[in-house]
Amino acid sequence: METLKSVIRDIPDFPKEGIIFKDITPLLSNPVSFKKVIDTLKTRYKDNRIDQVVGVEARGFVFASALAYALDCGVVMVRKPGKLPYKTFQETYSLEYGEDSVEIHQDAFKKGQNVVIIDDVLATGGTLAACIDLVNKNFEVNLIEVGFLIELDFLKGRQKLGNVSIYSIMHF
Ligand code: AMP
Repeated sequence: METLKSVIRDIPDFPKEGIIFKDITPLLSNPVSFKKVIDTLKTRYKDNRIDQVVGVEARGFVFASALAYALDCGVVMVRKPGKLPYKTFQETYSLEYGEDSVEIHQDAFKKGQNVVIIDDVLATGGTLAACIDLVNKNFEVNLIEVGFLIELDFLKGRQKLGNVSIYSIMHF
């Protein structure tokens, strides 16, 4: 775990003052640490008969697609508005200033499928709360868990995610 933490780089005041951004690019470019992350997630979900791994734009895609390959299942993309070409469901959530939305294709899942949502960082939890609603309100699937590479404990994001199971590889 300490080895994985050592390849996360803190960038102060990015993208704005007061935020310490967790830069995952050193982890991604290190083959040992990237493999370790995907193997950890694979071990966690290999017995859940996962049908679809949901990746959240954009860094979530990197982990979701590698995990889906490892689990022999599909990938579903949750994207920012206007990016998905087919009919979508949309969920809007509040930001510090204003609001944002996430979208998913209306045919993303089949009824009864087992689904895990993956993103890089659980910060305030707003994005993931919207993703969870997007899945649970519009589809009859089993949301097994939401998985993160990093959880920023001090932001208490997990309190926003309701009673869904949450797993984070690293805590800061
Ligand atoms: P949030 O909705 O606050 O949980 O965060 C939404 C997204 O912003 C996360 O999926 C991260 O990709 C990104 N993010 C937020 N805060 C940070 C941070 N301190 N370092 C890196 N990424 C962050």
